[in-house]
Parts: sequence; structure tokens; C-alpha cells
Amino acid sequence: MNKIRNLCIILGDQLSHNSPVLSNFDKKKDMVWMAEVMSESVSTLSSKQRTTLFFSAMRHFCDELKQKSIKVEYIQINNGVEDFAEALKNTIANYNIDHFKCVTPGDIRVYELLTDFFKKKKKNIDWLDETHFIANSNEFNEWIKGYKKPRMEYWYRYIRKSRKVLLEDDGKPIGGKWNYDVSNRKSFNKLGPQSIKKPLRFKPDKITKKVILDIEKKLPNLPGSISAFGWAVTREQALKALDDFIKFRLFLYGDYQDAMWTEEPWLYHSVISSCLNLKLLNPEEVIKEVEHAYHKNKIPLNAAEGFIRQIIGWREYIRGLYWFYSDIWMTTNNLKAKRRLPDFYWNGTTKMTCINQSINQVIENGYGHHIQRLMVTGLFSLLYGVKPSEIHAWYLSMFIDAVAWVEVPNTIGMSQYADGGIVGSKPYIASGAYINRMSNYCKNCIYEPTNASGENACPLTTLYWYFVYKNKSLLKNNPRLSMQIRNWDNKDKKMKNGIISRSKKLFNNIELF
Ligand code: SF4
Repeated sequence: MNKIRNLCIILGDQLSHNSPVLSNFDKKKDMVWMAEVMSESVSTLSSKQRTTLFFSAMRHFCDELKQKSIKVEYIQINNGVEDFAEALKNTIANYNIDHFKCVTPGDIRVYELLTDFFKKKKKNIDWLDETHFIANSNEFNEWIKGYKKPRMEYWYRYIRKSRKVLLEDDGKPIGGKWNYDVSNRKSFNKLGPQSIKKPLRFKPDKITKKVILDIEKKLPNLPGSISAFGWAVTREQALKALDDFIKFRLFLYGDYQDAMWTEEPWLYHSVISSCLNLKLLNPEEVIKEVEHAYHKNKIPLNAAEGFIRQIIGWREYIRGLYWFYSDIWMTTNNLKAKRRLPDFYWNGTTKMTCINQSINQVIENGYGHHIQRLMVTGLFSLLYGVKPSEIHAWYLSMFIDAVAWVEVPNTIGMSQYADGGIVGSKPYIASGAYINRMSNYCKNCIYEPTNASGENACPLTTLYWYFVYKNKSLLKNNPRLSMQIRNWDNKDKKMKNGIISRSKKLFNNIELF
């Protein structure tokens, strides 16, 4: 039996050549272990597009390791191995392994599953700190102790100061303000977005084509479509995607990051989140490039700051919260939401243009930008009262960049307010009027965004007022929402009854959507 000193486990979202699991790697004594297993696509559902991205990036990474003469035990989906436990059991049976190590998974479920496996096998595994973030968990856990209400903005300023990002020599923020969020909310005029260069897409190569065939054979029933696959699957492609964003779309990202438009899934967005989350790109290099573009190419400050805030602010803050509150996410349901996720989330068949557009592009591309996620698909789910576990499963399976540490707090916390206010200070609620202001969706919709009752009322507007009415006691103590309660109270009785009766019809008949 071959003797292995260290079996270095690399999971599908840990594809960095600088991974700590590879430090002190001895090519004669150590071996890398990677596996495509059925349960990670079926029990924890993953769309065709997301599964293809993970498997293709993993196979490319494995080839790159082999080119460096690193020994890799790689288990492909063709082997039909059920889960990580079965895959590891097979490897342990074939090798005499002294030691196991792995970077701590970004999903508590996988961490517990592997911990349990090694405990049962009476074998030790070293969990290594993930180094692909700007701050590690210890730093976040120390930081959070200092705040009663640890909002993202405080974390963001702390990282800007400690890492000297977009700072003047005296330590003050460049431009005089920390946050240009108010300059990130433009919508397009009637003509819509003009001549945006679409993001670089990468044609499936031999490896990706083989992955697609393997998935069609072994996992034929996964949701979503695969025909439009064009994601970066190597570090080389990821660097090109970053460069393409900085050159062609970053300059207007700041102005239009909250805008939406029919048949325009990408607009000015970076579309590099999957590269970051699979660790093909490092957040520090991304920030450096954006800062450099600001100084050298005169990228507007609201674009550079707005983008950097997403990375060192939201991304790192969300990851910190995921681990800090790790025991609450899967059970919390502060609003007691209990409805099933409507089927149209899976098949895209709905009369509501905003939802139709936002869902069909996810089915097609595995991608939607943050406002479509928060203020269209997330908003509908919140107002309709979908069980947090069901909407969470949808986001995790359908979005190519979804990994538990980022998807869980964003969905359960920020979007659904199921955490009672850990991530956000208030529920993100809005009526159809918001969507009408930020997009042209309503122009092509059978519903009327300003109508709250009656047959042509926008379902989001109706359900928005019903949410305010039903959650008055929750909302009244929040200064940012008390105005919305006053607006409800000021409506006449006939209008209130019309909204309540239309809401009940909507809740009782899914066909109305
Ligand atoms: Fe969406 Fe309502 Fe506008 Fe239709 S009218 S697109 S449902 S916001």
C-alpha cells in the first residue's frame, strides 16, 4: 500500500495555488485529494450551471497541480460516489495515510460532516485557517465584541483604516466621505443603458464540455439550463474577467449599481463573484487593481468606493457574521414565514415582469445582480412569506457564486429578515413603485405598480402594504420604517379593505402571479 505523509483535501471552492494546505507540500510524500460527489449536487441541490462551474474549475485546477508534478487523487462524478464520507473511505482503503489536512470549509454543514467522519474513523484532521479573505475569523470576532449593534459600516471603516484603502496620508477617507452610497442609486432614462460592453465570456473548452456531458449523464435532473455557460474556470480567465470589468464597466458601476433593465442581466456589474468565491481571485488583488484604476485612470470615486465597499465591507462582514452566529442560521424564522416557495422560482413562469426577468436570467445564466436578488426575488419572497429554508435552498442552488458563508446571511438575514435584525437594521421592503423607479420592467407588465388593490394591482405593491399592516408592532419601533406605518394609517378604510381582500386572494391563488 502506498504511504502518504499528508493527504491535503481541497474542496471545490478552495482552488488557490497559494492555499495554506499546499504550504510545505512535499511532492514525494504528500498527495492532494479532490472529489466530485453526488450529494453535493442533489441532497444539497445545485443547478446544472453551478455544478458545471465547480466541477470544471476543479478539474482545471487538478490539471494545473499535475503540471507542477503534484500527485492528485481526483474522484470524478462518473464514479457515482455518493458523498465525501464514501469517497474518503475508498481513498483510506487504498493508501496508508499518516495525516489529513484541509482548509476550514466555507459551509458549516460540510465542516461538521467531515469532522464527524474523521472522529468516527478515529483519525485526526488539521483544520487550517482560510487565508483568502482580508480578515480572518479571529479578527472579526475581536472587532464585533466592541459593538452593541455591529453594523457593516463600522466594519467597513475599520478595514479601510487598518488596511489603508482609499485613504489620504492623514488617514482620512479620500474625497472626505467614507461612503458614497447615495451616489450609487441612479436609474436609466427612457432610452435605457447605452452601449455597455458585455462581460467577457469564456467558451467551454474540452474539459468543460466533458463536465457538461458527465453531468447530463449522472445528474440529469438538476435545475437550470447549461447552454449559455461562459464562466471563468481558471485563474488565468479570472484575471482576464477582472481586467475586463475594470477597463469597460467599473467607471459607471457606481452610478448604476442599483439599476435594472429588461434583457440586460449584466449592466455595469463586475460578474467576478464566482472567481472570488472559488478563490481564483484574491480580494486583496482585486482591491489593489480598483484603487490603481481610480488613481491612474480617473475612475469616479463613487465607482471605486462603491465597488470596494462590496468587497471589504459586505463580503467580509457577511462572512464574519456567518461564523459568529453559526448556530442560528438554519433555524431562525423571526417573521414566522411559512409559505412554500412558488414553482415559478424554478421554472420562471410568472406574469410579473420583474420576477420573470430576474428568475429567467438566473435559470439561463446562474446569475442575477445584487438589486435583483435583494429587491426583486428576495423582496417577493419576504412579502409573500416564504419559509426561510426554502428561499435559502433556491439561492444556494441556482446562483453560480453561492457558497454557504455568503448566501446564508445574505438570504436569511439581509433579504428575509428571518434573523430579527442581525445583518440589517430593518426589513428591506418596498412596493412596486421602487422597481418602477429603478427599471423599465413595469412598462411591459400587465400590472400597475402604483395600484395596491383591484385586479390590475401590482402584487408587490399589494403585499407590501399588507406586510406593513400585519407587522405594525415590529416596524413601529424602527425610525426608518415608522413613516410607512403612518402612511398605512392614513389610508381610508375602503382602500385598506381593498388591499387586505386582494392580499388574501393572492395568498389563496398562486395563478394570480
Ligand atoms: Fe413587478 Fe409590479 Fe412592476 Fe409588474 S408592475 S414589473 S409586478 S413591480
